[in-house]
Amino acid sequence: MSSDLPQTTEDILAADAHLVQSWADLNALKQTGARTAIVSAKGVMVRDSDGNELLDGIGGLWCVNVGHGRQEIIDAISKQLSTLDFYSTFYTFTHPTAAALAKKLAQLAPGDLNRVHFSNSGSVANDGAVRILHHYYERLGRPSKKLVLSRHGAYHGSTYLSIAMTTPPYSKGWSRAEGIVRHLRKPHFWREGGDMTEAEFLDALIDDMRTEIETVGAENIACFIQEPIMGAGGVIVPPKGYHRRAQDLCRQYDIKFVADEVVTAFGRLGHFFASEAVFDTRPDIINIAKGVTSGYQPLAATIMTDEIHDVISGPDGVFTHGMTYAGHPAGAAAGLANIALMETEKLPERVRHTGPIFENTLRALGDLDIVGEARGSHFMMGIEFVKDKAKKTLFDAGLNIGMRVARKAQDKGLVARPLGHILILSPPLTLTEEQIARIGGILCESITEVMGELP
Ligand code: PLP
Repeated sequence: MSSDLPQTTEDILAADAHLVQSWADLNALKQTGARTAIVSAKGVMVRDSDGNELLDGIGGLWCVNVGHGRQEIIDAISKQLSTLDFYSTFYTFTHPTAAALAKKLAQLAPGDLNRVHFSNSGSVANDGAVRILHHYYERLGRPSKKLVLSRHGAYHGSTYLSIAMTTPPYSKGWSRAEGIVRHLRKPHFWREGGDMTEAEFLDALIDDMRTEIETVGAENIACFIQEPIMGAGGVIVPPKGYHRRAQDLCRQYDIKFVADEVVTAFGRLGHFFASEAVFDTRPDIINIAKGVTSGYQPLAATIMTDEIHDVISGPDGVFTHGMTYAGHPAGAAAGLANIALMETEKLPERVRHTGPIFENTLRALGDLDIVGEARGSHFMMGIEFVKDKAKKTLFDAGLNIGMRVARKAQDKGLVARPLGHILILSPPLTLTEEQIARIGGILCESITEVMGELP
């Protein structure tokens, strides 16, 4: 570490007073300062400034899919920067690394999703998808198609538009672009299903979607955006068959079907892309970020079909959309090296074996009294805590139940992510079976201890 950097926890926190954390209680931070400074990482482990070694149960932030400190990616970034540090992909410019990554993504993506527009974050990729579709419909002479269908519980990012496609608590107290987005029912059977069977609940979700489309008019709707599994909304897996039926409805009404695969792509569910391989859908646009570089560099993309591209690349009109760092050489190099690693190590295949072990280990926590539902798929899991299991009632928010469990877990050597009454686990995909068992053990102990301390 450079000697110019603050070395001790005290010095790091003093400097950190100038850093505005994201998604944080800034008032509380003013009193307490940041809690953990991560100073180094290797494999599935991270190290804090006090020398504690912690298992990275959240993969950075759902993103470090191949694990930390992979020399192949670091070398590729370094080599790239010493050859070409930066050039843009604006106007008629390109460079070999961005071009090669676009080609690789087109090969990996389903069907005719062959055209790749790069950006720097998942929020921007989602925002861009809507801008592109608005432009697409303008060019087709159907400018009224502007509305976006999203769902309660969605998380699509925090640019002005992507936060509008998201729902509370993420937007509480904040303004957002009103009028553009319509939120459909949250596809969470356990919480929302009431007395229905899962099949009935699925019918109700699709009916709700159809009713919304007919109420506002398909001629006013550009697209339906969906995370195949909702992530930050609490790791919600919709009922089996939901995705295909929602897509069919979109096709029937000529509404573009957009997949936000910012979390689900690049191996987390055992495939490079989940939309087709897991959920039997062929989106018109797939947005990616995070796992495409395993977080080693910021890079995102809006991958669209040839059909959309044909329309937006017709005569009379410039594609007035793009960010300076789109397809940044270092990001593209990281993406190529990361994908090459995943292919060489057959990481998606490996996840198809270890993912269900992780899933079952966490599902077993469902036997504990305060675990209402342990859910998810493969390396994308959430644990929802409840006060009363039968009634599914929540703990008082002031109890900070998720945070309590997360703190216990961290004291025992595991980083987990609390989101209110839910705890999220999204570790690197390289976890061994032994590490999976360790995570299960730490969580079981932590939850049991918190149970013993509750009033
Ligand atoms: N979409 C999903 C499903 C996400 O989980 C996230 C971030 O967690 C985003 C979009 C936003 O991505 P970013 O934070 O890179 O802007």
